[in-house]
Amino acid sequence: MKLSALYQIFLDCQSVTTDSRNCPKGSLFIALKGESFNGNAFAGKALETGCAFAVIDEAEYVVKDDQRYILVDDCLQMLQQLANYHRRQLGTRVIGITGTNGKTTTKELISAVLSQSYKILYTLGNLNNHIGVPLTLLRLKAEHDLAVIEMGASHPGDVKELVDIAEPDYGIITNVGKAHLEGFGSFEGVIKTKGELYDFLREKEDSTIFIHHDNPYLMKIAYGLKQISYGSQEDLYVNGHVTGNSPYLAFEWKAGKEGVRHEVETQLIGEYNFANALAAITIGHFFGVNPEKIDKALTEYTPQNNRSQLKKTGNNILIIDAYNANPTSMMAALENFRNMTVSHKMLILGDMRELGAEGPAEHQRMVDYIKECNFEKVWLVGDQFAAAQHSFKTYANAGEVIEEIKNKEPNGYTILIKGSNGIKLSTVVDYL
Ligand code: ATP
Ligand code: MG
Repeated sequence: MKLSALYQIFLDCQSVTTDSRNCPKGSLFIALKGESFNGNAFAGKALETGCAFAVIDEAEYVVKDDQRYILVDDCLQMLQQLANYHRRQLGTRVIGITGTNGKTTTKELISAVLSQSYKILYTLGNLNNHIGVPLTLLRLKAEHDLAVIEMGASHPGDVKELVDIAEPDYGIITNVGKAHLEGFGSFEGVIKTKGELYDFLREKEDSTIFIHHDNPYLMKIAYGLKQISYGSQEDLYVNGHVTGNSPYLAFEWKAGKEGVRHEVETQLIGEYNFANALAAITIGHFFGVNPEKIDKALTEYTPQNNRSQLKKTGNNILIIDAYNANPTSMMAALENFRNMTVSHKMLILGDMRELGAEGPAEHQRMVDYIKECNFEKVWLVGDQFAAAQHSFKTYANAGEVIEEIKNKEPNGYTILIKGSNGIKLSTVVDYL
């Protein structure tokens, strides 16, 4: 079937699903394949439970004479083409976000700020890959003024693939750092891949990037682009600095050198979120959101999904950052924790996964830093931390940590909990 014909069907269906357990009435099912499943096999169930049509790419699953089956060469490709076609048809302005750390937080903050004055479509949760980005774009409706799209990457070419689908008009790279080194090969590989967003915008007429002026890596690759800058220097479009050192991030900002000074107290933990907040202010200001409304959005935003959450239990204060971990974000979290003016600090750190050959050196670097910090208690979790040179307590997995908590019943501590999602440190939270 031709793309334009399928597009008509999509418009009639109004929504797309790839999950046969979730089939809104009249929606379009698209059969994707994963490592352990073949969506084609679920097309029948999708049609039974509500979908009006099913796009599949294996002929043997077509039921003869049932017009609801649409056979294509490659469902994933079709999903991506459909998303791109839809995005073009509507012509909505798209802001693309990539970067090593802080994409989701920045996306959420930008969306919170822009929602004060606009109808915004934005990525739900972390649906930032070659499937999540097209599914997000297919939720775009005529009423949306702007789309804020998170783009993840773990290999060279990943961002290019996503920008070709989403065709952003505006771009922001939150930062570049050490993550997924296994996939990227090197730090240079990381920079080049994130830079694929700039490369796309450089070729596009009338594009703009929002750039963290304090980041030399980004400044180096941003040549030839219309730039709106934010950072610490007073003459920047939006500038500011962190104030105070309570666990919650508080800061000042103003627009340009002579702008009115604003003070904002957020519900975010970690100084690293300052850059994310400044990015959201910059974009809000650029699109004309009233500054008081910008401040309101940032003050009211509360993070979800174990991304830098502060939780007070009966016994302890927890800084939970157990959703992901890589050397850049872990170092940022450790520095932030070190700078906090609280007594009785305890650290529960889990391995950083997916670092490939750099894994041992990066874990050693963290451990060496922790040695300087004099935290009262340090518990390390996972093989890679166990293999580094140190005398801290180590645990094989989150289960062992839970046992230890039940034995020792730590009380009166401020506890930073951070590690790759795979280490499952979020499970220890309930016991503290
Ligand atoms: P993912 O690759 O999983 O999509 P992400 O880029 O969307 O991650 P977030 O989920 O926003 O990032 O944040 C993940 C963690 O990264 C945070 O909990 C924090 O530890 C760290 N982080 C966030 N922003 C920054 C930043 N600007 N600089 C360094 N580290 C950061
Ligand atoms: Mg994310």
